[in-house]
Amino acid sequence: MNVLVKGAGVAGLSVAHELMSRGARVTVLDPQPASPAAASWFAGGMLAPYCERESAEQVVLELGLGAADWWEAALPGSVTCNGTLVLAPIRDVRELERFGSRTSGFEWADDDAITTLEPDLAGRFRKGLFFEGEAHLDPRRVLIRLAAKLAEAGVVFETDPVRTATAGFDWTVQCTGYSRDDQTIRGVRGEMLVLRTADISLSRPVRLVHPRFPIYVVPRADHTFMVGATMLESDSVGPITVRSMMELLNAAYSLHPAFGEAEIVETGVGIRPAYPDNLPRVVREGNTISINGLYRHGFLLAPAMAMLVADMVSNERRAH
Ligand SMILES: Cc1cc2nc3c(=O)[nH]c(=O)nc-3n(C[C@H](O)[C@H](O)[C@H](O)COP(=O)(O)OP(=O)(O)OC[C@H]3O[C@@H](n4cnc5c(N)ncnc54)[C@H](O)[C@@H]3O)c2cc1C
Repeated sequence: MNVLVKGAGVAGLSVAHELMSRGARVTVLDPQPASPAAASWFAGGMLAPYCERESAEQVVLELGLGAADWWEAALPGSVTCNGTLVLAPIRDVRELERFGSRTSGFEWADDDAITTLEPDLAGRFRKGLFFEGEAHLDPRRVLIRLAAKLAEAGVVFETDPVRTATAGFDWTVQCTGYSRDDQTIRGVRGEMLVLRTADISLSRPVRLVHPRFPIYVVPRADHTFMVGATMLESDSVGPITVRSMMELLNAAYSLHPAFGEAEIVETGVGIRPAYPDNLPRVVREGNTISINGLYRHGFLLAPAMAMLVADMVSNERRAH
Protein backbone atom coordinates (compact mmCIF):
# COMPACT_ATOMS: atom_id res chain seq x y z
CA MET A 1 0.00 0.00 0.00
CA ASN A 2 1.29 3.38 -1.11
CA VAL A 3 0.50 6.40 1.10
CA LEU A 4 1.26 10.07 0.57
CA VAL A 5 1.48 12.11 3.79
CA LYS A 6 1.29 15.84 3.23
CA GLY A 7 2.98 17.83 5.99
CA ALA A 8 6.03 16.99 8.09
CA GLY A 9 4.96 18.61 11.35
CA VAL A 10 4.31 16.43 14.35
CA ALA A 11 1.04 15.11 12.91
CA GLY A 12 2.53 14.13 9.55
CA LEU A 13 5.68 12.51 10.92
CA SER A 14 3.72 10.59 13.56
CA VAL A 15 1.29 9.19 11.02
CA ALA A 16 4.15 8.36 8.65
CA HIS A 17 5.83 6.45 11.49
CA GLU A 18 2.70 4.55 12.39
CA LEU A 19 1.98 3.62 8.75
CA MET A 20 5.59 2.67 8.06
CA SER A 21 5.60 0.46 11.19
CA ARG A 22 2.56 -1.36 9.82
CA GLY A 23 4.20 -2.08 6.49
CA ALA A 24 2.96 0.76 4.24
CA ARG A 25 5.17 2.44 1.64
CA VAL A 26 5.14 6.08 2.68
CA THR A 27 6.10 9.31 0.96
CA VAL A 28 6.14 12.53 3.01
CA LEU A 29 5.61 15.76 1.07
CA ASP A 30 6.52 19.05 2.74
CA PRO A 31 8.11 22.05 1.01
CA GLN A 32 9.79 22.93 4.33
CA PRO A 33 10.21 19.83 6.49
CA ALA A 34 11.39 20.12 10.13
CA SER A 35 11.51 23.89 10.01
CA PRO A 36 9.93 27.03 11.53
CA ALA A 37 7.19 26.67 8.87
CA ALA A 38 5.56 24.24 11.30
CA ALA A 39 3.83 25.14 14.56
CA SER A 40 5.50 22.00 15.87
CA TRP A 41 8.90 23.74 15.77
CA PHE A 42 7.85 26.17 18.51
CA ALA A 43 6.12 23.78 20.90
CA GLY A 44 7.07 23.37 24.53
CA GLY A 45 7.01 19.59 24.17
CA MET A 46 4.96 19.01 27.29
CA LEU A 47 3.11 15.69 27.37
CA ALA A 48 0.72 16.90 30.05
CA PRO A 49 -2.71 15.28 29.68
CA TYR A 50 -3.78 16.04 33.26
CA CYS A 51 -2.69 19.68 33.30
CA GLU A 52 -4.24 20.30 29.88
CA ARG A 53 -7.57 19.13 31.28
CA GLU A 54 -7.68 22.43 33.19
CA SER A 55 -8.89 24.09 29.99
CA ALA A 56 -9.50 21.14 27.64
CA GLU A 57 -12.20 18.51 27.29
CA GLN A 58 -11.95 15.06 28.89
CA VAL A 59 -11.26 13.51 25.46
CA VAL A 60 -7.92 15.35 25.29
CA LEU A 61 -6.89 13.69 28.56
CA GLU A 62 -8.01 10.28 27.32
CA LEU A 63 -6.32 10.57 23.91
CA GLY A 64 -3.14 11.91 25.46
CA LEU A 65 -2.58 9.28 28.15
CA GLY A 66 -0.53 6.98 25.91
CA ALA A 67 1.57 9.71 24.28
CA ALA A 68 4.71 9.46 26.42
CA ASP A 69 4.92 5.68 25.87
CA TRP A 70 4.36 6.05 22.12
CA TRP A 71 7.16 8.63 21.80
CA GLU A 72 9.54 6.61 23.92
CA ALA A 73 8.86 3.48 21.86
CA ALA A 74 9.33 5.39 18.59
CA LEU A 75 12.45 7.27 19.72
CA PRO A 76 14.05 5.61 22.76
CA GLY A 77 15.54 8.11 25.20
CA SER A 78 13.52 11.04 23.86
CA VAL A 79 11.05 11.36 26.75
CA THR A 80 11.75 12.64 30.26
CA CYS A 81 9.19 11.32 32.75
CA ASN A 82 9.68 13.68 35.70
CA GLY A 83 6.13 15.00 35.92
CA THR A 84 4.96 18.62 35.94
CA LEU A 85 5.06 21.10 38.80
CA VAL A 86 2.39 23.78 38.91
CA LEU A 87 3.13 26.75 41.15
CA ALA A 88 1.58 30.08 42.08
CA PRO A 89 2.87 33.09 43.97
CA ILE A 90 1.36 33.28 47.48
CA ARG A 91 -1.12 35.97 46.43
CA ASP A 92 -2.49 33.67 43.69
CA VAL A 93 -2.87 30.49 45.72
CA ARG A 94 -6.61 30.53 45.03
CA GLU A 95 -5.76 30.17 41.33
CA LEU A 96 -3.86 27.01 42.24
CA GLU A 97 -6.93 25.67 44.04
CA ARG A 98 -9.03 26.45 40.98
CA PHE A 99 -6.48 24.70 38.74
CA GLY A 100 -6.57 21.66 41.06
CA SER A 101 -10.38 21.57 41.05
CA ARG A 102 -10.38 21.26 37.25
CA THR A 103 -7.71 18.56 37.01
CA SER A 104 -6.74 15.17 38.44
CA GLY A 105 -3.61 13.05 38.73
CA PHE A 106 -1.77 15.39 41.12
CA GLU A 107 -0.66 15.66 44.72
CA TRP A 108 -0.37 18.89 46.65
CA ALA A 109 3.26 19.84 47.28
CA ASP A 110 4.34 21.99 50.21
CA ASP A 111 7.55 23.99 50.53
CA ASP A 112 9.59 20.88 51.43
CA ALA A 113 8.17 18.78 48.62
CA ILE A 114 8.83 21.58 46.12
CA THR A 115 12.42 21.82 47.38
CA THR A 116 12.88 18.06 47.01
CA LEU A 117 11.56 18.16 43.45
CA GLU A 118 13.31 21.34 42.35
CA PRO A 119 16.12 22.29 44.78
CA ASP A 120 16.76 25.58 42.95
CA LEU A 121 13.24 26.75 43.83
CA ALA A 122 13.78 26.19 47.58
CA GLY A 123 11.93 28.72 49.73
CA ARG A 124 10.30 30.50 46.79
CA PHE A 125 6.82 28.88 46.79
CA ARG A 126 4.67 27.59 49.63
CA LYS A 127 2.26 25.47 47.65
CA GLY A 128 2.16 23.63 44.36
CA LEU A 129 0.57 20.78 42.49
CA PHE A 130 2.74 17.89 41.37
CA PHE A 131 1.50 15.84 38.40
CA GLU A 132 3.79 12.83 38.68
CA GLY A 133 2.45 10.98 35.62
CA GLU A 134 3.37 13.64 33.06
CA ALA A 135 6.40 13.93 30.80
CA HIS A 136 8.15 16.17 28.31
CA LEU A 137 10.38 15.99 25.23
CA ASP A 138 12.35 18.38 23.05
CA PRO A 139 10.14 18.94 19.98
CA ARG A 140 12.91 19.93 17.58
CA ARG A 141 15.13 17.00 18.46
CA VAL A 142 12.15 14.70 18.15
CA LEU A 143 11.11 16.07 14.74
CA ILE A 144 14.65 15.77 13.39
CA ARG A 145 15.20 12.31 14.86
CA LEU A 146 11.85 11.03 13.65
CA ALA A 147 12.44 12.31 10.11
CA ALA A 148 15.90 10.68 10.11
CA LYS A 149 14.50 7.38 11.39
CA LEU A 150 11.79 7.40 8.73
CA ALA A 151 14.26 8.19 5.95
CA GLU A 152 16.50 5.36 7.13
CA ALA A 153 13.53 2.99 7.06
CA GLY A 154 12.82 3.87 3.43
CA VAL A 155 10.24 6.64 3.75
CA VAL A 156 10.71 9.07 0.84
CA PHE A 157 10.79 12.79 1.63
CA GLU A 158 9.66 15.12 -1.16
CA THR A 159 9.66 18.90 -1.18
CA ASP A 160 8.17 19.40 -4.65
CA PRO A 161 4.42 18.74 -5.04
CA VAL A 162 4.83 18.31 -8.79
CA ARG A 163 6.80 15.11 -8.27
CA THR A 164 4.06 13.52 -6.13
CA ALA A 165 1.07 14.78 -8.16
CA THR A 166 1.00 11.86 -10.59
CA ALA A 167 2.48 9.11 -8.48
CA GLY A 168 -0.77 7.13 -7.95
CA PHE A 169 -1.04 6.75 -4.20
CA ASP A 170 -3.67 4.50 -2.61
CA TRP A 171 -4.19 7.03 0.20
CA THR A 172 -3.41 10.64 0.93
CA VAL A 173 -3.16 11.79 4.53
CA GLN A 174 -3.34 15.55 4.87
CA CYS A 175 -1.47 16.90 7.93
CA THR A 176 -0.86 20.46 6.84
CA GLY A 177 -1.73 22.33 10.05
CA TYR A 178 -3.07 25.87 9.89
CA SER A 179 -3.83 27.31 6.46
CA ARG A 180 -5.57 30.54 5.49
CA ASP A 181 -7.12 28.60 2.60
CA ASP A 182 -9.11 26.41 4.98
CA GLN A 183 -12.08 28.37 6.31
CA THR A 184 -12.99 25.69 8.88
CA ILE A 185 -9.80 26.14 10.87
CA ARG A 186 -8.44 29.13 12.75
CA GLY A 187 -4.93 30.07 13.81
CA VAL A 188 -4.03 30.65 17.46
CA ARG A 189 -0.78 32.53 17.75
CA GLY A 190 1.71 31.27 20.30
CA GLU A 191 4.77 33.32 21.16
CA MET A 192 7.73 31.78 22.96
CA LEU A 193 11.29 32.46 24.07
CA VAL A 194 14.37 30.40 24.59
CA LEU A 195 16.57 31.55 27.47
CA ARG A 196 19.99 30.33 28.49
CA THR A 197 21.47 30.42 31.96
CA ALA A 198 23.66 28.04 33.90
CA ASP A 199 22.56 29.62 37.19
CA ILE A 200 19.40 27.57 37.58
CA SER A 201 18.46 24.05 36.72
CA LEU A 202 15.03 22.45 36.58
CA SER A 203 14.16 18.78 36.12
CA ARG A 204 10.66 19.17 34.72
CA PRO A 205 8.28 21.70 33.17
CA VAL A 206 7.13 24.23 35.72
CA ARG A 207 3.84 26.00 35.11
CA LEU A 208 3.09 29.26 36.78
CA VAL A 209 -0.58 29.80 37.42
CA HIS A 210 -1.55 33.40 37.15
CA PRO A 211 -4.96 35.10 36.80
CA ARG A 212 -4.10 36.55 33.39
CA PHE A 213 -1.62 34.28 31.64
CA PRO A 214 -0.66 30.71 32.44
CA ILE A 215 3.01 30.42 31.57
CA TYR A 216 5.46 27.58 31.70
CA VAL A 217 9.19 27.04 31.66
CA VAL A 218 10.46 23.82 30.09
CA PRO A 219 14.08 22.80 30.69
CA ARG A 220 16.10 21.73 27.65
CA ALA A 221 19.70 20.67 27.02
CA ASP A 222 22.68 23.03 27.25
CA HIS A 223 21.25 25.19 30.05
CA THR A 224 18.40 26.39 27.85
CA PHE A 225 14.77 26.87 28.81
CA MET A 226 11.74 27.29 26.60
CA VAL A 227 9.36 29.88 28.05
CA GLY A 228 5.85 29.85 26.60
CA ALA A 229 3.40 30.67 25.50
CA THR A 230 0.83 33.25 24.58
CA MET A 231 -2.59 32.24 23.21
CA LEU A 232 -3.78 34.94 20.87
CA GLU A 233 -6.68 34.74 18.42
CA SER A 234 -4.54 35.72 15.47
CA ASP A 235 -2.69 34.06 12.61
CA SER A 236 -0.08 36.79 12.35
CA VAL A 237 3.43 35.38 12.12
CA GLY A 238 5.00 38.76 12.86
CA PRO A 239 7.67 38.97 15.56
CA ILE A 240 6.83 38.69 19.25
CA THR A 241 5.31 41.87 20.72
CA VAL A 242 6.76 43.89 23.57
CA ARG A 243 3.79 43.04 25.80
CA SER A 244 4.13 39.30 25.22
CA MET A 245 7.89 39.43 25.70
CA MET A 246 7.45 41.34 28.98
CA GLU A 247 4.84 38.91 30.25
CA LEU A 248 6.92 35.85 29.44
CA LEU A 249 10.06 37.37 30.93
CA ASN A 250 8.19 38.54 34.03
CA ALA A 251 6.91 35.05 34.60
CA ALA A 252 10.37 33.52 34.21
CA TYR A 253 11.80 36.14 36.57
CA SER A 254 9.09 35.54 39.16
CA LEU A 255 9.83 31.82 38.99
CA HIS A 256 13.46 32.54 39.77
CA PRO A 257 15.39 35.85 39.71
CA ALA A 258 18.36 34.05 38.11
CA PHE A 259 16.41 34.28 34.86
CA GLY A 260 17.05 38.03 35.05
CA GLU A 261 20.66 37.34 34.01
CA ALA A 262 19.78 34.76 31.37
CA GLU A 263 20.55 35.31 27.69
CA ILE A 264 17.58 35.52 25.33
CA VAL A 265 18.75 33.17 22.62
CA GLU A 266 15.57 33.03 20.57
CA THR A 267 12.09 34.42 20.20
CA GLY A 268 9.57 32.52 18.11
CA VAL A 269 5.98 32.49 16.92
CA GLY A 270 3.95 29.44 15.93
CA ILE A 271 0.38 29.28 14.67
CA ARG A 272 -1.63 26.50 16.31
CA PRO A 273 -4.30 24.97 14.08
CA ALA A 274 -7.67 24.92 15.88
CA TYR A 275 -11.30 24.11 15.09
CA PRO A 276 -13.99 26.19 16.82
CA ASP A 277 -14.37 23.60 19.63
CA ASN A 278 -10.57 23.31 20.05
CA LEU A 279 -10.80 19.54 19.52
CA PRO A 280 -8.78 17.54 16.99
CA ARG A 281 -10.47 15.92 13.99
CA VAL A 282 -9.74 13.04 11.69
CA VAL A 283 -11.89 13.44 8.58
CA ARG A 284 -12.11 10.97 5.70
CA GLU A 285 -13.32 11.78 2.21
CA GLY A 286 -12.81 8.85 -0.13
CA ASN A 287 -9.16 7.89 0.05
CA THR A 288 -8.09 11.18 1.58
CA ILE A 289 -7.87 11.49 5.35
CA SER A 290 -7.06 14.69 7.15
CA ILE A 291 -5.76 15.16 10.68
CA ASN A 292 -6.02 18.68 11.96
CA GLY A 293 -6.99 20.94 14.84
CA LEU A 294 -4.33 19.67 17.21
CA TYR A 295 -4.41 23.16 18.75
CA ARG A 296 -2.17 23.33 21.82
CA HIS A 297 -1.80 19.57 22.13
CA GLY A 298 0.05 18.42 19.00
CA PHE A 299 2.75 16.31 20.65
CA LEU A 300 0.25 15.00 23.16
CA LEU A 301 -2.38 13.99 20.61
CA ALA A 302 -0.45 13.11 17.44
CA PRO A 303 0.26 9.50 18.53
CA ALA A 304 -3.45 8.75 19.10
CA MET A 305 -4.41 10.48 15.85
CA ALA A 306 -1.72 8.58 13.96
CA MET A 307 -2.93 5.24 15.32
CA LEU A 308 -6.51 6.12 14.39
CA VAL A 309 -5.52 6.88 10.80
CA ALA A 310 -3.34 3.78 10.52
CA ASP A 311 -6.28 1.69 11.83
CA MET A 312 -8.60 3.23 9.21
CA VAL A 313 -6.16 2.43 6.42
CA SER A 314 -5.39 -1.11 7.70
CA ASN A 315 -9.07 -2.01 8.27
CA GLU A 316 -9.91 -0.94 4.75
CA ARG A 317 -7.10 -3.10 3.40
CA ARG A 318 -8.39 -6.12 5.34
CA ALA A 319 -11.94 -5.52 4.05
CA HIS A 320 -10.77 -5.82 0.41
C1 LIG B 1 4.28 28.22 21.33
C2 LIG B 1 3.64 26.88 21.22
C3 LIG B 1 3.78 25.97 22.26
C4 LIG B 1 3.20 24.69 22.18
N1 LIG B 1 3.44 23.79 23.18
C5 LIG B 1 2.94 22.53 23.07
C6 LIG B 1 3.25 21.55 24.05
O1 LIG B 1 3.96 21.81 25.03
N2 LIG B 1 2.73 20.30 23.90
C7 LIG B 1 1.95 19.94 22.82
O2 LIG B 1 1.52 18.78 22.75
N3 LIG B 1 1.66 20.85 21.86
C8 LIG B 1 2.13 22.13 21.96
N4 LIG B 1 1.86 23.07 20.99
C9 LIG B 1 0.93 22.71 19.91
C10 LIG B 1 1.59 21.99 18.78
O3 LIG B 1 2.79 22.62 18.41
C11 LIG B 1 0.61 21.93 17.58
O4 LIG B 1 -0.60 21.34 17.99
C12 LIG B 1 1.23 21.10 16.48
O5 LIG B 1 2.47 21.62 16.11
C13 LIG B 1 0.35 21.00 15.24
O6 LIG B 1 1.02 20.10 14.39
P1 LIG B 1 0.63 19.88 12.89
O7 LIG B 1 1.56 18.81 12.38
O8 LIG B 1 -0.84 19.67 12.76
O9 LIG B 1 0.93 21.27 12.16
P2 LIG B 1 2.34 21.97 11.88
O10 LIG B 1 3.31 21.69 12.94
O11 LIG B 1 2.03 23.41 11.60
O12 LIG B 1 2.87 21.28 10.57
C14 LIG B 1 2.24 21.46 9.31
C15 LIG B 1 3.28 21.15 8.24
O13 LIG B 1 2.59 21.10 6.98
C16 LIG B 1 3.41 21.70 5.99
N5 LIG B 1 2.52 22.11 4.90
C17 LIG B 1 1.67 23.16 4.86
N6 LIG B 1 0.99 23.18 3.69
C18 LIG B 1 1.42 22.09 2.98
C19 LIG B 1 1.06 21.52 1.71
N7 LIG B 1 0.15 22.06 0.93
N8 LIG B 1 1.71 20.39 1.32
C20 LIG B 1 2.62 19.80 2.10
N9 LIG B 1 2.98 20.28 3.32
C21 LIG B 1 2.38 21.40 3.75
C22 LIG B 1 4.11 22.84 6.70
O14 LIG B 1 5.32 23.19 6.02
C23 LIG B 1 4.38 22.22 8.08
O15 LIG B 1 5.65 21.60 8.12
C24 LIG B 1 2.43 24.34 21.04
C25 LIG B 1 2.30 25.25 19.99
C26 LIG B 1 2.89 26.50 20.07
C27 LIG B 1 2.76 27.45 18.91
